[in-house]
Parts: sequence; structure tokens; C-alpha cells
Amino acid sequence: MKIAIIGGGPAGFAAAITLAKQNNKVTMLEKNSDVLKKLLLTGNGKCNYFNNTQNITKYHSNSNIDNLIKKENLDKVINFWNELGIIPIVKNGYFYPFSETSSSIKSALVNKAYDLGVDIKCNEEVIDILLNGKQLLVITKSYQELYDKVIVATGSVCYPKTGSTGFGYDLAKKFNIDLVDINPSLVQLNTNLGIEKLWKGIRTHVKVKHLENDQLIKEEEGEIQLTDYGISGICIFNLSRNISIGLKNNQKETIEINFVPWVLSDLQSFLEERNVYLPNRNITQLCDAFLNYKLLYAICNKLNIDPNKNWNDLSSTDKKLFCQSLRAMKVDIVGTKGFDNAQVCSGGIALSELDEKFAAKKIDNLQFCGEVLDIDGDCGGYNLTIAILTGILAGEAR
Ligand SMILES: Cc1cc2nc3c(=O)[nH]c(=O)nc-3n(C[C@H](O)[C@H](O)[C@H](O)COP(=O)(O)OP(=O)(O)OC[C@H]3O[C@@H](n4cnc5c(N)ncnc54)[C@H](O)[C@@H]3O)c2cc1C
Repeated sequence: MKIAIIGGGPAGFAAAITLAKQNNKVTMLEKNSDVLKKLLLTGNGKCNYFNNTQNITKYHSNSNIDNLIKKENLDKVINFWNELGIIPIVKNGYFYPFSETSSSIKSALVNKAYDLGVDIKCNEEVIDILLNGKQLLVITKSYQELYDKVIVATGSVCYPKTGSTGFGYDLAKKFNIDLVDINPSLVQLNTNLGIEKLWKGIRTHVKVKHLENDQLIKEEEGEIQLTDYGISGICIFNLSRNISIGLKNNQKETIEINFVPWVLSDLQSFLEERNVYLPNRNITQLCDAFLNYKLLYAICNKLNIDPNKNWNDLSSTDKKLFCQSLRAMKVDIVGTKGFDNAQVCSGGIALSELDEKFAAKKIDNLQFCGEVLDIDGDCGGYNLTIAILTGILAGEAR
């Protein structure tokens, strides 16, 4: 079969490699001057491509994806990487190539595709696809060609500077294929506390809760990054999906931060006891060993408490407020850093419009794979797993 893959991202490569193994004639059309631009940025340039912890709670879709996220399929992903010769290093369950550079993953994908005879054409932006009997006419800015099958692997609309600017969504709309509402996910959150400039640059281990209209939605633990616009870090990213959707629907979105998750007892009793065996310390000195001083100043500034005051000289109200801020600081979320900065999008092409190999039910010989689909994952290699798995499955279709 003569097949075109639109988009040279990880999903496109997984589909191309799978198809070329079955002796199909595969052409990959990529609009950038090189392939896999987004992949190079993943995992801070190290490419976190898989995770040891695999269960359905790590993946999200409007459709039921229990049948997709199953051992048999995840084994296909692991085999795919093994066949490419990737040697992993696993840190806290997160898989990276042992070289710890994403360019190793890129060259493994590109070399395998070349080995199998995939024709990779860069600087070829597909601008339209037309129906032509059972075939599809693919139109780029510079040429037109008929194909027996087309697989659309053009990604989402997040991080558009890497090339993903929503072509797949536009195509779906043109063919009357339903989309699930698209929102930024795994994204930084904007806050409006007034102390952001003071806490900027701090990274600290916290427990965080997402509250929607004051109801608990999800909890996470990990490193938070406090920035001049708000909050970031993996634990925040993993809460951002629901927050992004909630904000769009005008819900009240709040993050509650516990800056002292290791204090298991009542915090005020803990500080009172500490004040006995560390007497005559001011608040800064009392908290010095466990709280970044910039964070302490920011919290004191917000509460109008002098950080140089002795603990004993604080009013009982101030002590209570101080403990509350450390234990459960409520931060209203006023926005996200949007599609430009989001690692993935939630939503996309509705799975109800596709068969189990992601072929469009309404249009013959048109398939989709990767982030363009209504499937997204948490931080930790789950999104590349989706890209590779859906690419393999699309490529397996007869
Ligand atoms: C900063 C950052 C860090 C990330 N880190 C991780 C991580 O560590 N682990 C993880 O699992 N996930 C990570 N992700 C998410 C992951 O990169 C994506 O989920 C994945 O790249 C999606 O693969 P894809 O092939 O579907 O789409 P993409 O990688 O977006 O590839 C789509 C390709 O299609 C091309 N294209 C688009 N339109 C056209 C057109 N009309 N014609 C021709 N070509 C076109 C684009 O130029 C692009 O090359 C990260 C994302 C970002 C932005």
C-alpha cells in the first residue's frame, strides 16, 4: 500500500515504522525543516519516554480507554523501544535513554525509519486532503499526491513553535468528525496572591490539593516551583488538567499547599515544642532548618507579621494564621500559562468517531494517532507512551 503519514513526531514515527515493517511504501510529510522537534524538548532534554507505574488513572479521555491501556499494548510499546536499541535508565519509575539525551531517541527513530525505507520529506506542510474515490489526495504547499491511506499524526495545538498548530483538528472539522473540547494540560498556573515576586525561584517539597468550588478533586505530592506568575512543577502539572477545564467553565479553582508535609502532628504544637528546646529564637530562626527564608518572608509579608519577632511575642491569632499558611495555604488560580506553554492538550478527536485502530468511521482510509486524539496522560512518560502506542496500533491496521 502507498501510505502517507502527516507529521514527523513520535506518533508519526511509530506508525511509519510499523507500516514499513509490513513492506508498505511509506512517505512521511513534516512541515518543519527537521522531524521530532517537540520530542527533543521532552523530559528537560532527556526524554522521559515510559514509566514503570502503569494504570488507567494516569491516562485521561472522554471515552473509555480501558481496552487501550492494557498490558498487551504496553508490552508493544516496550518492545518497540527495545527493537530500536534504546537502553533505559529508570529513575523513580521514569524511563530515560541511558545517554540521558533526547537526541538519542530521535536518532534511533530516524535511523530505524531509514533502515525500513520510509521516505521522510521535510519542509512539506500539508494544507489539505481531498477524497478521490477510495484514495486520498494529499496537498502540500509544493506538491499533490494520491495515497491509498493517510495517517494524521500532527499533534495538538500546544507548544505550537514545535509545529503542532492544530491541522488535525481542522481536518476533522472539515470531515465532520467530532472533537472533544481542547484545553491546555500539564501547564503552569497563574496566581494573584501579591507575594509572587517575593517567593520567585523557590523549589520545595509539598503536598498539594486541588479544590473546585471548595470540594477536593485530587491530591499530589512533589516539588513545587514558586514563580513570579504563580506555581509550577510536576505536582502542579498533574493537577492542571482539571483546573484548566474548570476555569474555562467559570468554576472557582483553588490549590491548597502544605509546605510542611513531614510534620504529622499538629503544627502549632510542633512549633511550641521547638520553641522550648530552641528558646529565644525569632520566627525566622525557629523555622530556619525546614523553611526557605524567602518563603517565610513572603508568608509573613502576606500576613503582616514581622519575621524578626519572637514566637512568644506573636498573638494567638497570628500564630494560628501562620500555621494555617504553612499547613494549608489556599491559593486561588486565576489562569494558566495557556497552549503556548502546555506540554499537552486534553481533548481532541473523539474516540467514538474512530475504530480500535483509530480509523475514521466516516472517511475511508483516514486514520489518526498521537496527541491529536482525545487521550492525554499525566507527567512521567505517559504522553509519549500514548503517541507510540496509538502510532503502532494505527500502523497495524489492515
Ligand atoms: C516541553 C515539553 C516537554 C514534554 N516532556 C514530555 C516527557 O518528558 N514525557 C512525555 O511522555 N511527554 C512529554 N511531552 C509531551 C510529548 O512531547 C507529546 O505528547 C508528543 O510529542 C506528542 O507526539 P505527536 O507525534 O502526537 O505530536 P508532535 O510531537 O507534536 O508531532 C507532530 C508533528 O506534526 C507536524 N505537523 C503538524 N501539522 C502539520 C502539517 N499540516 N503538515 C506536516 N506536518 C505537520 C509538526 O511539525 C510535528 O513535527 C512534552 C511536551 C512538551 C511541549
